[in-house]
Order: sequence, then structure tokens, then C-alpha cells
Amino acid sequence: MIIIMKPNAGEKEIENVVSIVRGKGLDVNLSQGKEVTVIGVIGDKTKLDGSNVEIAPGVEKAVPLTESYKLCNIKFHPEPTVVRCGDVRIGGGATVIAGPCAVENEQQMLETARGVKAAGAHILRGGAYKPRTSPYSFQGLKEEGLKLLRKAADAAHMPCVTEVIDFDSLKTACRYVDMLQIGARNMQNFELLKEAGHAGVPVVLKRGMSATIEEWLNAAEYILASGCREVVLCERGIRTFERSTRNTLDIAAVPVLKAKTHLPVIVDPSHAAGVRAYIPALTRAALAADADGVMIEVHNNPACALSDGDQSLDIAQFADLMASIPCLK
Ligand code: PEP
Ligand code: MN
Repeated sequence: MIIIMKPNAGEKEIENVVSIVRGKGLDVNLSQGKEVTVIGVIGDKTKLDGSNVEIAPGVEKAVPLTESYKLCNIKFHPEPTVVRCGDVRIGGGATVIAGPCAVENEQQMLETARGVKAAGAHILRGGAYKPRTSPYSFQGLKEEGLKLLRKAADAAHMPCVTEVIDFDSLKTACRYVDMLQIGARNMQNFELLKEAGHAGVPVVLKRGMSATIEEWLNAAEYILASGCREVVLCERGIRTFERSTRNTLDIAAVPVLKAKTHLPVIVDPSHAAGVRAYIPALTRAALAADADGVMIEVHNNPACALSDGDQSLDIAQFADLMASIPCLK
């Protein structure tokens, strides 16, 4: 349930409602926007029966919530959330995250980091723990990779993000990076989501390849319910019958999410397309659909990449793409 206060409701009236709700053993999520204050009630709302909270002074109305996710629900928190990754803001602009699929070596990371930074990217990406389809594919450099990612990010004066796949990688990554990524394959690894929510850093949550938007929002809710309020949703394509692309970019997810959640929404055209040539059009489509940013795979030498070379742009291609997008210039 949400309790919407009247626009002129004062602090005392808000405090009174909060204490009625807490007095019934329920939790409160207070969202004080410029226009309106919304008090989200977390827990079994039948405990409020007979409390007359809906006619307490300053209350405009009490509305039941039908969705199972609350903290990420736009009804709970009508103002858009802006997530901070280092000194970069995600939300309310077009933030560009770029870098290789996997961290491979120092030269690759330094060249790529400096290249994407010069082209205008804001955050460096690079995987050190790679959840690969085949156990015989390159699995990542692990902690050694995190050190190289940090070094390259510092050299290029950028914050960085990396994927974590289990408790160990999560704990280790927190010592090196500014933001964690939970990948498509782990979107419903609920224990990992809870642990990420306790980590004290922002989290990018990618959409599972067969996840509905509702399942995805419930996954985000796990992170929020564990205490982290800085979650970014990343649409990265879903499985459909279409085989021309690696996945099908669900561009409609962007406006749908904007209607349902206050969390920032970014798009990863690289894993959606799987083909380098399609990345520029999909990037422009994502930003035209009002995404808060994009995550793009870029490699200093895609032909030699140890993972996802076919979908990686080289630095010149990435610079051309950035130059073609007016809001990124
Ligand atoms: C990645 O970003 O490197 C990755 C593995 O992406 P996804 O989880 O979307 O497949
Ligand atoms: Mn990849």
C-alpha cells in the first residue's frame, strides 16, 4: 500500500502517519519529492485495518499496490533515482559504459581505457570473472584482472564496473571497482542478489535472457530490500525465435520500465546484437527510447579478443559512434 500525502502536508502530519504505520509493526519507505510525499508501507497491510490512517490529517489517499515489487516501484518512489558510480551519474542523462568483454592483459586495458575515454565514455567496463557457455572458453583473469581493470580506469580517470558471479568474486571485486554487475545468467541468483545488496556499492542488474520484466523487477527488489538503493537496470536482449542476432533487443523494455520503476535503465546493444555492424543503430535506438545510457563492448583489437570479439567495436568505430550521437558529443 502507498499513502499519498496532500501537497501542503507538513512534517508533523507526515511523522504522525509514519508512526501509525510503524506502530502496527510495518516498515516505511518515505519518498519526499518536490511535489508530493509518498509513504510506502512494507509488510502485511491488513495490519492497518481499523487504524483509519487514510483519514489521518494531511493524507490525500491510500492506494493498494498490486505489484509484488515495492521499493523499486515508481508508485513508492515517484522521483527518478540517480545512481552514482564514482563521480559519474547514471540517470537523467546519457551515460556511456564502454570497454572489453574480458580483461586480458595490461596493454589491452590501458589502450582501450584511454581510447574510450578520449571518445567520451564515462565508465570503464571489463570482465574478470567470465560466465562462459563452454567450460573450455576463457574464464577470466580473476583478481589479476581486477587489478588491471583498476589500473586502467585510474590511468584514464574513469570509474569502473565488473561482473561478479558468486560470493568470492563479489567480495574481491568490492576492493577494486566502483560498481558491480550481476549478469544475465545470475539475474535470479537470489542469494547473490542479497549479497550484492549488502556490498555498499551500486549494482548494474542485467536482464536474464528469458526473464519477464516483472521477474527482473523482483530481482532488483532483492537488491533494494538488502539495503542498496543504487541499482541500474540493463536491457541486454532476450531469447526469441529470431536467429539473425544473438538475442533480440527488447527496446520496448525501456519505456515499460520507465512506467514501472524509478531506477535508471540502460541498454547493452553488444550482447543483444552479437554482431558489430548492428551496434550503432541499436545504440541510437536505445537513446531515442530514452534510456539513461548504454553499455558497449570495445576492444583495442577485436580480431584477437578472447571473448565476444565479433560484437566488439574497435576504438575508431566506437569514436565514430560517439560522434554520431548528438547527446553524447
Ligand atoms: C557481459 O556484460 O560481459 C555479459 C556476460 O553480459 P550478459 O550477462 O548480458 O550476457
Ligand atoms: Mn561479453
